[in-house]
Amino acid sequence: MKKYILDLTTTQLKSAVKSVIEQDYKIDQIVEWIYEKKSSSFKEFTNIPKILREELDTKFLLRVLKMVKKETSAVDNTVRYTFQTVDKKYLFAVLLHSKNKNSVCISSQIGCPMMCSFCSSGTVKFARNLSRGEIIEQILQIENDSKEKISGVLFMGMGEPTLNFNNITSVLTSLLSNREFGIGKRHITLSSVGVVPAIKKLANINFGIRLAISLHAVDEKQRKKLIPNNFGFRIEDILNAGKYYLEKTRSRLTIEYILIKGINDSTRDAHKLTRLLNRHKLLNPDVQVNLIPFNHINGIQLQTPNQDRIQKFKNILKFNKITVNIRQAKGADIGAACGQLGY
Ligand code: SF4
Repeated sequence: MKKYILDLTTTQLKSAVKSVIEQDYKIDQIVEWIYEKKSSSFKEFTNIPKILREELDTKFLLRVLKMVKKETSAVDNTVRYTFQTVDKKYLFAVLLHSKNKNSVCISSQIGCPMMCSFCSSGTVKFARNLSRGEIIEQILQIENDSKEKISGVLFMGMGEPTLNFNNITSVLTSLLSNREFGIGKRHITLSSVGVVPAIKKLANINFGIRLAISLHAVDEKQRKKLIPNNFGFRIEDILNAGKYYLEKTRSRLTIEYILIKGINDSTRDAHKLTRLLNRHKLLNPDVQVNLIPFNHINGIQLQTPNQDRIQKFKNILKFNKITVNIRQAKGADIGAACGQLGY
């Protein structure tokens, strides 16, 4: 059976290819063709002898994902990609443009076991983790298709990345490696609903990437409604893990808070959030709260608060010296905005 080359780390690739190509220096060329030149076929490896290229082709696969749909927002040029896996599952990734960089928001699982009530991915039955290669290939294919240099990566697509820990850390190693993607650690953000042991483990490895904690609620009852399957991790422990991450990595921490009309958007909630952050010593410039007005999802009966309510919520945080930002929805017209990645 052919091996999927993107599933292999550079070290693994070295020994797997050794039987095919004897000289070590050719490994560097292969890595360059895969990650720097984003080649989708071994035929393109033109500085490697033809016979060896054919050998590689019989032993390895370079692409396994099929791009089955591509939608571009008429509003902000955001692009939503749908990929199909070999086992006929679907996953989604988004290309986002901002002033200084192009970022991709990628998926880490097929479906999501956390089942958040405000998220389309949560309605997709969890099937499996994506492999290292399937995660990396989303970036390579998007870069190839768009002809745009990707300089930011967000682990905010379908799935809870920390539940696919080994593959995610392997991908992070590749993203940060200058021989592979060479993306700056401050341009990579991983979002988690708060899997406490995984956050601590990530802090101890210390890649230095940014962490976003999807808090979304100020008390346990409210949070259970929004994130029914959070493995019983309590808000206290999640925020303590966030603090630990901040101290260990000296990176930035974002608290994500989706604003849903009548559920978690009252001035009382805003004050409670302030007190929570204060109690956990998270009122500092390295912590930012991102307010995300709920994005409409077909079949989900939740609503977006009006502008007045959103501003009031923001102003309370701001008054209390919290760095706060209202996240502008990108790609909402094509179902690519936060929480909309589903069927
Ligand atoms: S918000 Fe994140 S963790 Fe929750 S269901 Fe969606 S993808 Fe999963």
